[in-house]
Amino acid sequence: MEVGRRSAMEYNNTKEGKPLKMKVKFVDDEKDVVKASDAMPLPLYLTNTLFFTLFFSVVYFLLTSWREKIRTNTPLHIINLSEIVAILAFVVSFIYLLGFFGIDFVQSLILQPSNDIWAADDDEEDARKVPCVQALDCSLPKMAPIASSLKAAPKVAPEVFEEKAMIATPPPTEEDEAIIKAVVAGTIPSYSLETKLGDCKRAASIRREALQRVTGKSLEGLPLEGFDYESILGQCCEMPVGYITIPVGIAGPLMLDGREFSVPMATTEGCLVASTNRGCKAINLSGGASSVLLKDGMTRAPVVRFNSAKRAAELKFFMEDPNNYETISMVFNKSSRFGRLQTVKCAVAGKNLYMRFCCSTGDAMGMNMVSKGVQNVLDFLQNDFPDMDVIGISGNYCSDKKPAAVNWIEGRGKSVVCEAVIKGDIVSKVLKTNVAALVELNMLKNLTGSAIAGALGGFNAHASNIVSAVYLATGQDPAQNIESSHCITMMEAINDGKDLHVSVTMPSIEVGTVGGGTQLASQSACLNLLGVKGANREAPGTNARQLASVVAGSVLAGELSLMSAIAAGQLVKSHMKYNRSNKDVTAVAST
Ligand code: ADP
Repeated sequence: MEVGRRSAMEYNNTKEGKPLKMKVKFVDDEKDVVKASDAMPLPLYLTNTLFFTLFFSVVYFLLTSWREKIRTNTPLHIINLSEIVAILAFVVSFIYLLGFFGIDFVQSLILQPSNDIWAADDDEEDARKVPCVQALDCSLPKMAPIASSLKAAPKVAPEVFEEKAMIATPPPTEEDEAIIKAVVAGTIPSYSLETKLGDCKRAASIRREALQRVTGKSLEGLPLEGFDYESILGQCCEMPVGYITIPVGIAGPLMLDGREFSVPMATTEGCLVASTNRGCKAINLSGGASSVLLKDGMTRAPVVRFNSAKRAAELKFFMEDPNNYETISMVFNKSSRFGRLQTVKCAVAGKNLYMRFCCSTGDAMGMNMVSKGVQNVLDFLQNDFPDMDVIGISGNYCSDKKPAAVNWIEGRGKSVVCEAVIKGDIVSKVLKTNVAALVELNMLKNLTGSAIAGALGGFNAHASNIVSAVYLATGQDPAQNIESSHCITMMEAINDGKDLHVSVTMPSIEVGTVGGGTQLASQSACLNLLGVKGANREAPGTNARQLASVVAGSVLAGELSLMSAIAAGQLVKSHMKYNRSNKDVTAVAST
């Protein structure tokens, strides 16, 4: 789905384009608030001084004159001209002061931000309904599983209000200043800061400051505070200077294999979550989707070279001989409790041999695991094939992070098929199209059109949109979106043409729930939402397989919704209306 960016404010617009009332309003934007004092013709301090002086003078005058009357037994109601003037001045100054400070006080009460973010949400229209375009009517079915997550609300609210404070970075201390200067001068390598300082946050802060000085470019806007830099050390990212924030939306619930899932999607593409959400609704109202895991095995294929093609072929026959399998798998499996060799598939290219090892990897995506097993086998083979020259542990026949037919045909990671029957009336009411139009569009676009384009695993409308968003939210390797998005979408009219059978078949979904980015706090929270956080102790591998099914189910929802929008001819219209930022992009320049 090729769509543009939307500004945050646009999300707060109703379908009619009217702004929604902002309940959670931060009043630090005081310049935008109209005050009573704005109407003053004189400088504020002069006017206020004048009226204050007048007020207290007449009060003093009246009190002393009344005290004098009491002392001399003069009736209080007998007043002279000067007292009349004083009373008038008192009334005028009192009205002014009351009007000035009173209105400001009332304004400040009205504009006070609510400290209860959930209370603000309560009477706000469901945010998930707000960005939906007319073409993508995505009002939600009941969100049963979300209720339990409300318990976490008190923890969330303070972080929201501290956001401004988090962005401000304090000036460096004298000691840090000296290190920054050394990094800028090149006497301390930037990469060594973590080791030298033993404090990852401090290292990131110093590196960031040095970078800004060296490049002369500001990193303002890239947050530094509020992230656990220890958690990425040696695992996720080197030489950090901050972290990127990506909004996470929720599509769902998605009814899949009898369970409801709220699917977290990290994206900056407007319409994507709303569209997937609409697909989830259509699936739910039709009784849900079901999935089957066809295969589960991660691959790694080293390339080795011999002096002759004959020798390369000999190793191929050795590796594929069932009699040798037990020995090879024993050697392979000793690297991990979870990595279990399944197959070795070999391909010869002249004197070179490519051996595609495939193994189960428990709840890990498995690249490290499979690589360790392969290394063990290569070391072992060296005994019987001393003339074998190991060119590389990865020979691209794996094939990782590149479009390749081998993944599309053989599968890599989890191979999943997911299907649903969408009732005809749901197709018309929720998806705003009809079964025949969808079937025809699928045939001409996803099958024929992709064939004409020479597609490799791209027989779908936008699987990679959903795959990428779920991968980012759940800490998967986003580069594996390439093969993980291989998908063929099938649509068929059933029940005498009344209902729609829709399926997605995805042979290489590469996901894990342990290792890599999955252990970081925010990604881990998203995995937790899906009920697949971390390792499954009872049945290792179950969490990762469940996640793969959720990915396929979400793709099914995304396919249904986008295909419907196209079939109904609404895609361009709705995206032009709701997906174009009104911001002046030319105003954004480097600083
Ligand atoms: P990957 O192979 O995906 O790169 P890592 O090697 O980073 O993943 O993480 C896998 C690690 O997690 C291994 O050390 C493995 O022993 C450990 N682990 C613990 N529980 C499990 C599990 N249920 N499934 C897979 N690995 C697990």
